[in-house]
Amino acid sequence: MKCFYHPDQARHAPPTFLLRGQPAPSPEGPVRAELLSEGLAAAGLSLTAPMETDSPTLRKRLEQVHTSRYLQFLETIYERWHAIPGASELVAPNVHPCGGAQHYPRHPVGQAGWHLHDMACPLSETSFRGAMASAATAVAAAEDVLRGAARSYALCRPPGHHAGPDNAGGFCLVNNAALAASVLREKVSKVAIIDVDLHHGNGTQDIFYARGDVWTGSVHADPSDFYPFFWSGADETGSGEGEGANVNFPLPLGSDGETYLSAVATLIKQLNHFQPEAVVVSLGLDVHKDDPLAGLSVETEEFVALGEQLSALSQPTVVIQEGGYPTDHLSANLTAFMRGYLRG
Ligand SMILES: [Zn+2]
Repeated sequence: MKCFYHPDQARHAPPTFLLRGQPAPSPEGPVRAELLSEGLAAAGLSLTAPMETDSPTLRKRLEQVHTSRYLQFLETIYERWHAIPGASELVAPNVHPCGGAQHYPRHPVGQAGWHLHDMACPLSETSFRGAMASAATAVAAAEDVLRGAARSYALCRPPGHHAGPDNAGGFCLVNNAALAASVLREKVSKVAIIDVDLHHGNGTQDIFYARGDVWTGSVHADPSDFYPFFWSGADETGSGEGEGANVNFPLPLGSDGETYLSAVATLIKQLNHFQPEAVVVSLGLDVHKDDPLAGLSVETEEFVALGEQLSALSQPTVVIQEGGYPTDHLSANLTAFMRGYLRG
């Protein structure tokens, strides 16, 4: 199985984000890629670099899942932000639209508030480059499957599943899983995205909510008490042509591995009912019991079973890395997943 990673992803490396109202060191940094890469190596896998990060084709593909004004914002905001006297080094807005905004602003502070859903997405001068490298990595993995590979893996960071059509959120700038699904859709008519990250994939849900050609399913910690708070209920089932093609499986905070794996099995059954021709897995290792974002209680060895469950999917599959933050266990968690996944 080919595994993809573009070194320019390290260009997005915000040192801090705002946590509980306080600046805190960001757990979403380049060290994650190093730890995940070590985890792959221990499973006998090595990384291949995708090439182009600024091609017109990549931009065109991104416009299938994001608005062009949002992509334009990501590309240009740093320079426009720094034209404001006294602006902070990182782009970090102090105002957000709540409750039915009527007007898209011209001012960089207003635009930053519009597009950056929360305070976990501060942007540096090179963040756009990092996000494009992450996107190119997802595209390379999807293209590998379109060329006939049964499976591929994309080591994407920044992650993507909280990024919606018009916004960033939760460390995510560009929705890599949605992009991979969209690339697969160029050749097949039905794609499913199964999101096993600790957090609800609200961006992915938002992008495909009214579409019947891309099924989305997510297991996650219950957002009544957990990020992303405002979406992810089991009653969110899609709309219009997408009615019935969105499945959410919230779990009580602190649920153990057995409960989590049972929920994944249920999601896989529903996914198969949709009969997709290709699958994207949003792989979050932050369900581990010691992850700093602390929500579920999955043990390292239980990632073997997760890998085995997903390896039973008969469709060509692209695995996209989402969450999973630095601990002594992060590398081992990916190794365990891959051991199970490659065994199938
Ligand atoms: Zn997560």
